[in-house]
Amino acid sequence: MPKNLTPIANPDLSQEHPTVLEIDLGALKHNLQVLKSRLQQKTKFLAVVKAFAYGSDALKIAQTLEEEGVDYLAVAYTSEGIALRDGGIRLPILVLHPQPDQLSRCIDRCLEPSIYSPRLLRAFVKTAEEKQQTDYPIHLKFNTGLNRLGFWENDVDRVNELLQNTRSTKVKGLLSHLAASDDPAEKEFTQAQLKQFEKIGKELVEKLGYQPLRHLLNSSGILNYPEAQFEMVRSGIALYGYGNAPEFDAELKPLGRLRTVISQLHKIEPGESVGYNRAYKAEAYQLIATLPLGHADGIGRQYGHGKGQVWLQGQLAPIIGNVCMDMLMVDVTGLDCKEGDPVIVFGPEHSAEDFARGAGTISYELLTGISSRVPRQIIDSTR
Ligand SMILES: *Cc1c(COP(=O)(O)O)cnc(C)c1O
Repeated sequence: MPKNLTPIANPDLSQEHPTVLEIDLGALKHNLQVLKSRLQQKTKFLAVVKAFAYGSDALKIAQTLEEEGVDYLAVAYTSEGIALRDGGIRLPILVLHPQPDQLSRCIDRCLEPSIYSPRLLRAFVKTAEEKQQTDYPIHLKFNTGLNRLGFWENDVDRVNELLQNTRSTKVKGLLSHLAASDDPAEKEFTQAQLKQFEKIGKELVEKLGYQPLRHLLNSSGILNYPEAQFEMVRSGIALYGYGNAPEFDAELKPLGRLRTVISQLHKIEPGESVGYNRAYKAEAYQLIATLPLGHADGIGRQYGHGKGQVWLQGQLAPIIGNVCMDMLMVDVTGLDCKEGDPVIVFGPEHSAEDFARGAGTISYELLTGISSRVPRQIIDSTR
């Protein structure tokens, strides 16, 4: 890493920002139980806590999941795993996308890398040998159609050869990732992925002479392909309350609630405009509420122009005009509200999935995009 890169020093807005992301650990525990009830008893559970646990609070989530007895955690980058170790997390942690220059740190903190290319495997073996490791656990990732990361099926021999020539590492896991587990129209494609994964597993076991933990399913995979649990599943979004399907959503509880308040109300007349570039023009007498959150908080401009709606005392109010950096305006005409009143941007009352869909995106993007300016407040509805 270049030496001139420094972490950002963040001011603490926790006592000031009227917009707060509430995180309900009770919902997390509930969702874990819902997911586990869909699995065989012997299936291991890996909880994906990358990207600040989908925009929430990775350490708090990891601590709760460790207490609740999950088997594994996964992050995207080595540094995310190190932050969890620094916080005292002792569970096995899989690093999904380790960078070649971070493998030494990975070993130092007992993180298990997902190795996805011959280049990365060579780099890992070299590092592990230099650090005099024996049987250091790695997971091999194979590409079965997502075409993002992974060895190809015909790499099995090459991988095996590299591994037979060293005592430094041992294959603890074998994984692949589904491209469209949430899409019933792609069932045939997904089933071909399942088949190929099984085949690679067989070839590898034959060559290695032992059986690694196989894991393939993400959240939607658990819902739609329970027959492909193998030894472990990897769930992210469903733990946070969204299942990419209405019947799954109905069982899950959203973990996060993004709440704010009305800063100011304006009565405007027909022909008056609201916000930058006069992007909204009133056609009648209207009541407009200004809310203290904007694209710097993670609610991007795609939510403007009526695409996003917020929840206010049981009713939905559309975001009008352009979203500003620190504020946005909603049309509350006809609603009974006053300055200082609470507003829910998304949460149990108004799902992040619905909010995101209005702007043509998905809950994953909305949740992980809530910026670090928004304070996180941990609650537990079960306590
Ligand atoms: C993010 C990720 C997951 C989790 O997917 P969800 O759809 O959130 O359950 C699982 N596996 C891999 C490889 C991932 O990158």
